[in-house]
Amino acid sequence: MMTLKNYNYFSQEANLEYMSYSQFKSFCECEEKALAEIAGDFRREETAALLVGSYVDAHYEGTLDIFKANHPKIFKRDGSLKADFVKAEEIINRTERDKLFTKYMSGKKQVIMTGEIEGVPFKIKMDSYHEGKAIVDLKCVKDFKPVWDEELHRKVPFVEAWGYDVQGAIYQEIVRQNRGKQLPFFIAGATKESTVDICVMNIPQERLDECLQLVKALAPRYKALKLGKETAARCGKCDWCKETKILTEIVDYRDIEVSDNAD
Ligand SMILES: [Zn+2]
Repeated sequence: MMTLKNYNYFSQEANLEYMSYSQFKSFCECEEKALAEIAGDFRREETAALLVGSYVDAHYEGTLDIFKANHPKIFKRDGSLKADFVKAEEIINRTERDKLFTKYMSGKKQVIMTGEIEGVPFKIKMDSYHEGKAIVDLKCVKDFKPVWDEELHRKVPFVEAWGYDVQGAIYQEIVRQNRGKQLPFFIAGATKESTVDICVMNIPQERLDECLQLVKALAPRYKALKLGKETAARCGKCDWCKETKILTEIVDYRDIEVSDNAD
């Protein structure tokens, strides 16, 4: 197995050898899209929304200068920050003004560990790791409100909607394998609302246990897909599926699903 460092953590080689939380999530969304991402055939759009999170991450990691140098698009012509990143600065200032938030974000940054779940190699990279005490992940989200779930036909807490509970389960299990101790998982969250909201949330152990069971149930299939031993399913809805769609029949317009997004 290759040794993971910061410079090769996100490499294609690393993504082929190891599963990560985001790769697992991608497989859950659409198996074919996940494979296309690993192969480099499909890239998730680097939206401003995503970049705001990366900007705040980079600040806490102490690599904001490098981030700025690598992302000239975040600046206006006059050299000042675009509105989204003025917001990112505001989030940073707001979170640093809070003692509890700062304490939870004061662990070791970007700590990498690897392990195995159900025979599937996993890699993790922690935002703030308190050795022997806690795992903390930083999240910048639109707001803390529940999110409509198309499949469940109801709103679910944003932590579940974005799979942060599954992330917690994977991180906790890999740390346990490396350090022999089960640590609590926290989310240090901040919102991009006009007035920034902040919160440090814990995910109860019973929820983490449930999510680990889900990972154990699904990860072996995803590994088999990566090895080409099984055929990937298409979700038919994601950008990859749209991009590669081939029309084979005429559709009655009434069969096109009505989205009842209540948000
Ligand atoms: Zn799809």
